[in-house]
Amino acid sequence: MKKRLTIALVAHDRRKADMVEWAAFNADFLSRHRLVCTGTTGKLIQDAYSAQGVAADITRMNSGPLGGDAEIAAMVVRKEIDLAVFLIDDLNAQPHEADIMMLLRQCRVHNIPIACNRYSADLMITSPLWDEENYKPTFPKYVEYHREA
Ligand code: PGA
Repeated sequence: MKKRLTIALVAHDRRKADMVEWAAFNADFLSRHRLVCTGTTGKLIQDAYSAQGVAADITRMNSGPLGGDAEIAAMVVRKEIDLAVFLIDDLNAQPHEADIMMLLRQCRVHNIPIACNRYSADLMITSPLWDEENYKPTFPKYVEYHREA
């Protein structure tokens, strides 16, 4: 892939092992892009990359329950994120459910690809469309919604 992307990585506690394994498997790819993570997810990926001898550009936001998902959602709104991998714990309630919903919703509203499982994430990072100059993403039209300006 020619473009340097900004990739958001977030994993709930019981999905962190999955995230670290996925990030380690894709270290060659991910180390060529900027990674923006929630606090603990970012720390675990940093540690795994140090152990692997991989140099990566990792920005850590707050931990998810303390606003990390909300910070990443704000970046999505500002068009600062190109794609997100969000491994949600679907089997346990989270204290920051509202922020999780917000991050998912803002990715949908702003047409940001978001993978919620590793299979989708693998398909997303290997898509040839990233380098296809004639491909323009189609944005949701929200018929009858009129936004200002
Ligand atoms: P964490 O946050 O990486 O700081 O654990 C993730 C989350 O719970 O949203």
